[in-house]
Amino acid sequence: MRYSKAFIPTLKETPSDADTISLKLMLRAGLIRKLSAGIYEWLPLGLKVLKNVERIIREEMDKIGGQELLLPAILPKELWEETGRWNIYGKELCRIKDRAGREFCLGPTHEEIITDIVRRDVRSYKQLPLMLYQFQTKFRDEIRPRFGVMRAKEFLMKDAYSFHATEEDAENYYKIVYGAYSKICERCGFKFRAVEATTGAIGGSFSDEFMVIADTGEEEIVSCECGYGANVEKAECLKQEVGSRKSEVEKPLEEIHTPDMKTVKDVGKFLNEKPEKFIKTLIYLADEKTVMVLVRGDCEINEAKLKGFLKCNELVLADAQTVEKISGAPVGFAGPIRLPSTVYRLPIFADYSVENIINGISGANKKDYHLKNINIGRDYKPTEIADLRKIKKGALCPRCKKHELKFSRGIEVGHTFKLGTKYSQAMNATFLDEKGQKIFFIMGCYGIGVSRIVAAAIEQSHDESGIIWNESLAPYKAIIIPISYEGKIKDACDRIYEKLSQKYDVLLDDRDERAGVKFKDADLLGIPVRITVSEKTLKENKAEIKERSKNSVNLFDIEKVLDIVI
Ligand code: ATP
Ligand code: MG
Repeated sequence: MRYSKAFIPTLKETPSDADTISLKLMLRAGLIRKLSAGIYEWLPLGLKVLKNVERIIREEMDKIGGQELLLPAILPKELWEETGRWNIYGKELCRIKDRAGREFCLGPTHEEIITDIVRRDVRSYKQLPLMLYQFQTKFRDEIRPRFGVMRAKEFLMKDAYSFHATEEDAENYYKIVYGAYSKICERCGFKFRAVEATTGAIGGSFSDEFMVIADTGEEEIVSCECGYGANVEKAECLKQEVGSRKSEVEKPLEEIHTPDMKTVKDVGKFLNEKPEKFIKTLIYLADEKTVMVLVRGDCEINEAKLKGFLKCNELVLADAQTVEKISGAPVGFAGPIRLPSTVYRLPIFADYSVENIINGISGANKKDYHLKNINIGRDYKPTEIADLRKIKKGALCPRCKKHELKFSRGIEVGHTFKLGTKYSQAMNATFLDEKGQKIFFIMGCYGIGVSRIVAAAIEQSHDESGIIWNESLAPYKAIIIPISYEGKIKDACDRIYEKLSQKYDVLLDDRDERAGVKFKDADLLGIPVRITVSEKTLKENKAEIKERSKNSVNLFDIEKVLDIVI
């Protein structure tokens, strides 16, 4: 491509509303433009990169027996009602009506649709296993679209679904997909890590997320040298970690006046007690049912874990009015004992951290009062004690129980799920086994954010001058820069361009611009190899070659340039 003809609208100024380096660079290098919040246009240069990501993924999916198809983006309500997700999915699901009033949604994911296809056309175990995938524009009405194409409302995903006759086959195949995802990350040049994750709105029995390691990543992950890795949302907390009951004598309950002191910090200061003595009491609405949740004062509830534990679809902290109704006191004074007599059988779920608190402190369910010397067993009995808290710095690895966990941040680019029969059961999707019995398909599903990968790659590989593409993602493999596009320099550059173009996508900067401008743009666009021809280099019949990721420049015979770039 000749630069003078290419549509690469670069920007000199950094757009002020861009909230991450990758978005800034994608806008500046003319890869994308914003149409509306969370909705982006892919310009030619950006699309080239997107297609490269797509090609890598397609190759790896085909290698493991995947077959590509293409499903609609607009999906009928009826299929989503079969699994109940029409109601469960919440506000992220963009619902629309056609002229006849029939309801549809813009597909955020396609489990229902693929299960419907397979239940119609796959009848026998002989047709299994089956792996189908697609590249598709998904729509999710994200509450806070941000970081450009990384958390957009409309984005490109590769979603794959596999169908198996046995659990064993599904689990073996899961490992194969895991391997393919690792390969994709490697080919994209990522420093990455796969970690255990929660299953969220997709559901299923277990899942892994593929995280590109980046300080700017939205996700927090923990990892251990023993090989354990998990999203903090999922990371297990050890029961023992919070200390065992010391031989402290249980004292009698004591009510204390704590006017306007609503937090662990305030009351702790007033009583000169550590947060470890506190039983933090929270009231949640789990699918509109009220539950009380307890955690030690220095810890926090992990809502993803709590949601999974309660098996609810929606979990929110109760509003002030509900708290007052349940505890009989304003927010800040709730506790597990002395609940108003009107509250009948309120389920109380305690995190393991609460189990060992002796003579603990909590709200008295009375305005401006707290209780001291609360003891589990003697004063209250939780409905259940479980792992409900967020993992904290300093925690031991739950797997090897030896090393301290390392905390880091990542960008989730892929997510694999072992679904089991969640969808096939809900949609009555069965096949006949060898004995002629009807069996539900065992499923897996595997997503990769194609557009998110482009941004993640930039997030991980850039410098102050611009993007640094690795060779497999780069929109052009090389850029040829004539210091001035005329005379002998022009002839030499044209020759190099002709030759290289036979094999690669290369860019020839034939613009009537100063050399400095051309160099700056080449750096901004992040093209891996820069080939410069000047009068000086031509004197020796040479061209100067510089790799974008390195500082050194080398001179090569023009005739040899082709071999070097290869
Ligand atoms: P997240 O936790 O980031 O919202 P998710 O768990 O909702 O992701 P999945 O449903 O597993 O995501 O989707 C598969 C992949 O699609 C993700 O791993 C991610 O790369 C990509 N993805 C999900 N949501 C978005 C989005 N809003 N914008 C861009 N890519 C997305
Ligand atoms: Mg999401």
